[in-house]
Amino acid sequence: MLDSEYHESGCYINITFTDTQIMGLTLFNSLGKTKQPFEPKNDDEVTVYCCGPTVYDYAHIGNLRTFLFEDVLIRYLELKGYKVKFVMNITDVDDKTIRAAKNSNSTLKEYTNRFTSEFFKDLQSLNVKEATEYPRATDYIKDIESHIMKLQSEEYCYERDGSYYYSINKFSKYGSLSGLEINNEKNRTRLNEDEYTKDNAQDFALWKAWDKDDGDVYWEGKLGKGRPGWHIECSVMSTKILGEEIDIHAGGVDLIFPHHENEIAQTEAVTNKKFVRYWIHSEHLIVEGKKMSKSEGNFFTLRDLIDKGYDAKNIRFLLISSHYRSQLNFTFDGINQAKENINRIQEIYSKIIEGKPKTGRDANISSITKESKKAFEEALDDDLDMPVALASIFKFVRDMNKYLETNQVLEENKLEITDYFETIDKVLGILSDKTIELDDDVRSLIEQRDEARIKKDWKKSDEIREELLKKGFIVEDTKEGTRIKRK
Ligand SMILES: [Zn+2]
Repeated sequence: MLDSEYHESGCYINITFTDTQIMGLTLFNSLGKTKQPFEPKNDDEVTVYCCGPTVYDYAHIGNLRTFLFEDVLIRYLELKGYKVKFVMNITDVDDKTIRAAKNSNSTLKEYTNRFTSEFFKDLQSLNVKEATEYPRATDYIKDIESHIMKLQSEEYCYERDGSYYYSINKFSKYGSLSGLEINNEKNRTRLNEDEYTKDNAQDFALWKAWDKDDGDVYWEGKLGKGRPGWHIECSVMSTKILGEEIDIHAGGVDLIFPHHENEIAQTEAVTNKKFVRYWIHSEHLIVEGKKMSKSEGNFFTLRDLIDKGYDAKNIRFLLISSHYRSQLNFTFDGINQAKENINRIQEIYSKIIEGKPKTGRDANISSITKESKKAFEEALDDDLDMPVALASIFKFVRDMNKYLETNQVLEENKLEITDYFETIDKVLGILSDKTIELDDDVRSLIEQRDEARIKKDWKKSDEIREELLKKGFIVEDTKEGTRIKRK
């Protein structure tokens, strides 16, 4: 069966549905730069580590694109039946967090706690599944110190003026992930800008000696007064929580070099094992065709967009709908298009779950439903090809709309179709739950909050939001009015 499908990039592509067995998942591994069948170390549990945010400000939509791609990856692994242990770190000490805390007259802890909780709020609004753990760098200082001492005893590390550096010439595999990127002019310049004294321009700091700009931010242990470098925290937290050999390590492409290259060097020098089986990286995002930057005025956080009246769910859909390895052009038209696309799926889903069908089964509809589910999984099996997966969904939506013009869905088909929508939504995370039963107490709180908002009493409105959250409901303010979701 061959069908011509509309591709979200604007061209038509052909999808072939075949009767072959569903193939296993393949992923594009940046280490080796090929698509490879996914084979975790242990069948019963997949370990995934993703580089999390540096909590000095709100996450911007470029960061969020990466976190959403990682969410799709985790959700799809779970859909395929894997038990996933997923760790995302929080970088809560570095130059930026120290400077920002100082400028706002807060302690580093107060400051980073605030932006960590803002980060979690964003994830919740975007319906991102919670990680198994979110370790903070400052909770792992002792482990970081011991790791650096091990590197030093193996002579991968040297000390200059109280700072400790990794000597990349000692690690023969240095460059295996990023290849030519090490010699790239831009990257060399970036490394040379590092102000610390070191033997080789490309050596990087594992531990930075205290200086007066750090104020009261320092730890004083075996390595002397100072604080950890950024790269070392990921090596230490990932192996400490997930073990010395991790299945998947993900992040944005900008992390390949030097961050991930350095993680490999720091980890493998100590463990002598292959640190990560699959390195997966998502591409950049541009806004309305241009690089996002504060000076261009096209720099957006999630709250900027919500303040403009856009719904987080539509933003989620837009951010996951391109292939993760393609650059995504974020546009406001795109958010509106995402909204229409969700509505198309939601409408047919609601129609089917609300219908009261007659008994029986239409064999043709059963087979269309089955084919569609298979096409969705085959697309995602192919290195998470979301555009093709979405094209298969819209084909199904069209087929069903056509069918419903002259037919009613029968009982067994309803079960199959409901299962289909529930399956795709385990990955997409965009469809509304079936009707939420609200008791009088909750209804009254929502009304009081709406009244407070009309009176612009934001304090009261926020208090009621918190109260609803305690009762297990998330409030979303959308253009269409208040929306309530279960936590
Ligand atoms: Zn990292």
